[in-house]
Amino acid sequence: MPKEKILIVEDNKLNLELMISILSSVNEAYEIITAPNGFKALELAKSEKPDLILLDMQLPLIDGYEVARELKAEPELKDSLIIAVTSYSMRGDREKCLEFGCDGYISKTIDTRKFTLQIKEFLKMKGK
Ligand code: MN
Repeated sequence: MPKEKILIVEDNKLNLELMISILSSVNEAYEIITAPNGFKALELAKSEKPDLILLDMQLPLIDGYEVARELKAEPELKDSLIIAVTSYSMRGDREKCLEFGCDGYISKTIDTRKFTLQIKEFLKMKGK
């Protein structure tokens, strides 16, 4: 079976390293690619067609909401799941992420024990 490909879009180096290290420590081998901003994310998503996109909502240049909207507008990315990763804890924020086209939501701070399980659950949603 080919490795599932995960694109992590995150401008914070520590968060990025944390997510990479968690995902690298599990048995499921994932192919991990990264983008530090929305422009790079759009470019990489189109060329790599990841199975899952972990999208930080607070990004420089263009924010995660706009990135999600543009990703969802790409017919070739219809099979890529977009999961918002955000520290916003305001009421209605989850709904806002979904409105902009995200398929799911993970809140920061990343829970190191839950994270891999959350990723597995999201990957199961794929293609359904
Ligand atoms: Mn950020």
